[in-house]
Amino acid sequence: MAGEAIRAVVRGEVHGVGFREATVRCARKLEVDGWVRNEADGTVRVHAEGAPAAVEELVAFLHQGPRLARVTAVESERVAVEGHEQFAIRGVSAGVFVVQEHAATAHHFDLRLEVGGVMRSWAVPKGPSLDPAVKRLAVEVGDHDTARNTFEGVLDASRVIVWDRGTYEQGGRVPWPQALERGHAVFVLHGQKLRGGFALQRTRPGAEAQWLLIKRRDDSARPGSDIVAESPRSVLSDRTLDELGA
Ligand code: MN
Repeated sequence: MAGEAIRAVVRGEVHGVGFREATVRCARKLEVDGWVRNEADGTVRVHAEGAPAAVEELVAFLHQGPRLARVTAVESERVAVEGHEQFAIRGVSAGVFVVQEHAATAHHFDLRLEVGGVMRSWAVPKGPSLDPAVKRLAVEVGDHDTARNTFEGVLDASRVIVWDRGTYEQGGRVPWPQALERGHAVFVLHGQKLRGGFALQRTRPGAEAQWLLIKRRDDSARPGSDIVAESPRSVLSDRTLDELGA
């Protein structure tokens, strides 16, 4: 959409008063895209883009906020239009994620993200990395049942440990699961080992689609690190794969 974009910081009593939800309702009515998030310093941050008059109206709403809010200041500045296709609440959990280390015919790590009640899954032969310069092949595999997220042990000839787990946030400019269908999904992991922003970029569609798993450049990035080698143990049992049912 041709238009303009702003970033705003809203100060005052703006947490715990339904500010984000009210902003989403207002933005959707105005057909403004972007996001709203609560910041740790007690402010609300907003990215809004769309028709100039609509963005202006949204900024006017931010000055007032919902009924229970007390806004003391709104600082907004023009920024580049990013091409958002939704108005989303950022910084909220979208579900759980798990990474299981799996020694089968080939050794790999299974990255699983909860999407629509199932665990969308990718087999990552070399495992995830916290180094943004590293691109890891991730082969899309069948969905898993959430009930198997905590499975650890020996099954037939294969061994599994829960290498990491936690919750995740959906990011990006496109709502999920469309982001996955289009082959570009951005998300934030809150695990014990994996933290911060990641991207999955599809490079070859079809059955067993190929993707690249890439750490985004943020405060959680650790250039030059090798998290798989540094932290080999299960987050459930503290065992390594080799210590399982040996
Ligand atoms: Mn597997």
